[in-house]
Amino acid sequence: RKNPRKGSSGQNIKVFLRCRPMNSMEKSSKSFCAVECQQNREIIVRERPLDKFTKTFTFDRVFGPESKQIDVYKAVAKNSVEEVLSGFNCTIFAYGQTGTGKTFTMEGEHTNEIMSWDEDPLLGIIPRCVNHLFDELRIQKVEFTMRVSFLELYNEELFDLLSAHDDMSKLRLYEDSSRKGSCIIQGLEEVLVRSKSDVYSVLEKGSAKRQTAATLMNAHSSRSHTVFTVTVHIKENTVDGDELLKTGKLHLVDLAGSENIGRSGAVDKRAREAGNINMSLLTLGRVITALVEKAPHVPYRESKLTRLLQDALGGRTKTSIIATISPASINLEETLSTLDYAHRAK
Ligand code: ADP
Ligand code: MG
Repeated sequence: RKNPRKGSSGQNIKVFLRCRPMNSMEKSSKSFCAVECQQNREIIVRERPLDKFTKTFTFDRVFGPESKQIDVYKAVAKNSVEEVLSGFNCTIFAYGQTGTGKTFTMEGEHTNEIMSWDEDPLLGIIPRCVNHLFDELRIQKVEFTMRVSFLELYNEELFDLLSAHDDMSKLRLYEDSSRKGSCIIQGLEEVLVRSKSDVYSVLEKGSAKRQTAATLMNAHSSRSHTVFTVTVHIKENTVDGDELLKTGKLHLVDLAGSENIGRSGAVDKRAREAGNINMSLLTLGRVITALVEKAPHVPYRESKLTRLLQDALGGRTKTSIIATISPASINLEETLSTLDYAHRAK
């Protein structure tokens, strides 16, 4: 099986960068535009407005402030959806400083009440993936079921964003004794979805629940990760008349704000003292580095996030990371930190 996605490192990890437009706050501050996107692959960073000394970072693809949701979807996620249809597992992460467009990229927005969801150009990667899955499976006229789950990981505890209960009770994660390297989340709702509109309502419900938690707890949403998982079971009839069941899984992860970890990838002393260590974000970086470097030991077990994604990270599975940044000079320190982190994954 040819693998067109293999990067220079020989890993199935692709790294993308997206820079959002300047917002009004940044425009009215003394900020200047510190980044310039070039030829879809490069980003140039300037520390002073007329700096000749610039830093350049190269990625699998760079999306500038004018990029459209559909273009991001096509370049970042479409391929993963096709892998899932072939029975593989894939993961797509959004990584970046709070306020740079992780949720905009993953979930997108639906603010126009008159426009139907299906036509909304602001839909993000999650609804577009599910739409593409439904379209393809219907074209192929195969028997299938699709289930989705939506969970939040905060302070190394798991919460179900789709549970019918009002409270957010903790979920337990344990090893699946029948399949090595795979985990089961006890009591997680896996909602059967039959149409695109089912998925839109699930997304709205989950996001509303996340919002409630964020209001109750200051800075909650910037410190929590969400994992939206789509599982498809496809029944196929082989030429010999046998039935074959294929299972594909797609994890779409909106990570906690990267301002939680320091420039070197380590937790700085102040954050440690304040108890602000984000184990999952930190371990994810280490796991990715270990995979890229083909290290003999990959520290999956050191955080909840990497444990629950273990069977969808590394090996033959495709992983995409989309790092998001602000173009404004006031965020330069965080932007450089994001660029360093994302670049390490290549
Ligand atoms: P994060 O999830 O990283 O904290 P958000 O996705 O909530 O950030 O984005 C912060 C704000 O910036 C939102 O108001 C969002 O609409 C806007 N935004 C983010 N990315 C873009 C983009 N590419 N184009 C236009 N607006 C964007
Ligand atoms: Mg967000």
